[in-house]
Amino acid sequence: MLFSEEMIRTGVDALAERVSSAYRGREFTVVSVLKGSCVFAADLIRRLPIPMELGFVATESYRDGVTSGEIELRYLPSREEVEGRELLLVDDILDTGRTLHFLQNTLIELGATSVATCVLFDKPSRRVVSMEADFKCFDVDDSFIVGYGLDFAGRYRNLPFVGELKGSVIEAATLQQSDVQ
Ligand code: 5GP
Ligand code: MG
Repeated sequence: MLFSEEMIRTGVDALAERVSSAYRGREFTVVSVLKGSCVFAADLIRRLPIPMELGFVATESYRDGVTSGEIELRYLPSREEVEGRELLLVDDILDTGRTLHFLQNTLIELGATSVATCVLFDKPSRRVVSMEADFKCFDVDDSFIVGYGLDFAGRYRNLPFVGELKGSVIEAATLQQSDVQ
């Protein structure tokens, strides 16, 4: 275990205060990146005592479990939900930066007035494109983490804490996958 429920709660509390001060008096929409950020976004928005709307985008990038592939857009809010709005894009983790970079550009092209970014975890050592989150909670080393919304092959999203996945689990799953390719 790397982050207990208590550590996450304290981190999200502090983050929510920063987001609230930044967006007080502004009309804005929290856009949660599915599926990974759903648990984090649900906890974050309940700590924002200011008017806001909620939207979702869905991407898929982790084709083989742990390495980042091409980003595919699975769901995008309608133009009416985006045009002229200030958006806060919320994701579970900033890794290579490809996902948030791509989504930020896409939402600006759709007519958003501003698109800021907010992540629970940041892995600065893994960056491939230049991208820093406007709001973030915890830095993590280059290890693969699961829980609190973060998955491995679709599993472990429901863990209330965040832990590092054992290397042997990743290796076993990768071997199984290469067996059937
Ligand atoms: P990026 O596009 O920044 O490389 O990747 C962002 C996405 O990769 C995140 O939304 C998340 O789904 C996935 N990701 C990156 N690192 C991890 C990790 O350590 N654990 C899990 N479960 N997903 C990760
Ligand atoms: Mg994700």
